[in-house]
Amino acid sequence: MQTRKYGKTGITTSLFGMGCMRLPTIKGEAGLEEIDKEKAIEMVQYAATHGVTYFDTAYGYHNQKSESLVGEALDGGLREKVTIATKQPFSVMKTKENMRRNLENTLKKLRTDYIDVYLFHNIQPQTWEDIKAFGAIEEFEKFRQEGLIRNIAFSYHGDAVTFKKVVDYYDWSMSQIQQNILDTDQQATSEGIRYAGKKGLAVVIMEPLRGGGLALPPKEVREIYENYNEKRTAVEWAFRHLYDFPEVSVILSGVSTLEQLKDNIRIFSEPDVQPGCLTDEDRKMLELVKKTYEARAGINCTGCEYCQPCPNGVEIPRIFSSYNMGMMYDNMEFGRNRYNFSKRNGTDASNCVECGLCESKCPQGLNIIELLKKVHAELN
Ligand code: SF4
Ligand code: SF4
Repeated sequence: MQTRKYGKTGITTSLFGMGCMRLPTIKGEAGLEEIDKEKAIEMVQYAATHGVTYFDTAYGYHNQKSESLVGEALDGGLREKVTIATKQPFSVMKTKENMRRNLENTLKKLRTDYIDVYLFHNIQPQTWEDIKAFGAIEEFEKFRQEGLIRNIAFSYHGDAVTFKKVVDYYDWSMSQIQQNILDTDQQATSEGIRYAGKKGLAVVIMEPLRGGGLALPPKEVREIYENYNEKRTAVEWAFRHLYDFPEVSVILSGVSTLEQLKDNIRIFSEPDVQPGCLTDEDRKMLELVKKTYEARAGINCTGCEYCQPCPNGVEIPRIFSSYNMGMMYDNMEFGRNRYNFSKRNGTDASNCVECGLCESKCPQGLNIIELLKKVHAELN
C-alpha cells in the first residue's frame, strides 16, 4: 500500500482511505436499509490489517450508525494503528452545548478518547459566513486544546473562490474536496487542490469515482479505454488522475463489498502509484474521456451554484447533475437513486413554486423551471 504525508501534521497515512458511507446494507426488521454488520465489520478489519490506515466516517452516515460500526470494528487493538476522520455538520450545531454533546457521542460511538481529524462537514458558500459568525471554529479549537480532537479540518462543496477564502481563514490541518476525471474544473477544482497544498494543508479527495458511476462507463468511453495503447480499467484511470497530484494525501473510496476493497488495495499498492504517473498522452486521453461524457449530458448546467439558494430549498445543481449522470453513464437508474436522496431531503424539483428567482441568476441562461419539470417527470 502506497503511503503519503498528511500535510504538515506529521502523520503518514495510506493513500487509499476507506470511506465508510457506502458500507454493505441489508433490509432491517422494519423493511428499512441498515448496515450489514457482519460484512461491514469484516471489511473494516480486513482493511486495517492489509495496509489501510485511514478511515473516514461522519455523524450522519448510514443514519448515524457508521461511527458505531467503525468503533466496534476497530475496538481491541486496531484503533491505535489508524487515523480516524469524522465530521460534524453545521446543521446540528444548534448551540455550543450541542456541539460538545455531538462530539461526546461520536467519541462514545467510536470507542475512543480522541478523534485524529475532526471536520466541519460540507462547508458551502451559503453556510460559511454563518459558521464564522457562530464561533464554531473557536469551539473546535477548544476541543483540540482539551485533547478530544487532534486536527481540525473541513469538507467542502462549492466554488473555488470561497474555497480559497475558507483555506485562508484558519490554520486548518486538512481540506476534503471532490475531484475526479469529470470534476477538474467544477467545485474547488484542480486549482483548489494546488492552493491548499501550497498552504500546507493535507488534501483528501472524495468522490474519486463520482458516486461509483465512473466504474461502469458507457460504450463510447469504454472504446476510448480499450483502444488506448496502455490497457487499464476505468477505475484504475480514475485513480491515476488523482495520484498524479503531489498535494493529495488520501483518496477516499466508499467501498461496498470485500471484493471492491481488495481490488482497491491491489490498485493502490502498485509501485507506480506516484505523482507524475500520467504522461501528456494519458492526460489527453482522459480529456477526451471527459468530453465524451459531457457530450452525453442532457442539461448544460455547469454546477456553478449561482442559482442557489432557492427560497424553497430546491437543490437545482444536484438535481440537474443526477439527470446528467444518468445520461452520461447510460444508467437512468443511477440518476433515479441519486434523485431519491433529494426527495428524502425535501429538496427535489416538486418543491419548486415557479417564482423564477433562479432563472435570472443562471449564467447559462437555462430555462430552469421547465427543466426541473422534465427531470422530475423522468426521475421521479
Ligand atoms: S423557480 Fe423554483 S427552483 Fe427557482 S428559485 Fe423559485 S422555487 Fe426555487
Ligand atoms: S442551473 Fe445555472 S446557475 Fe444553477 S448551477 Fe446550473 S448553470 Fe449554475
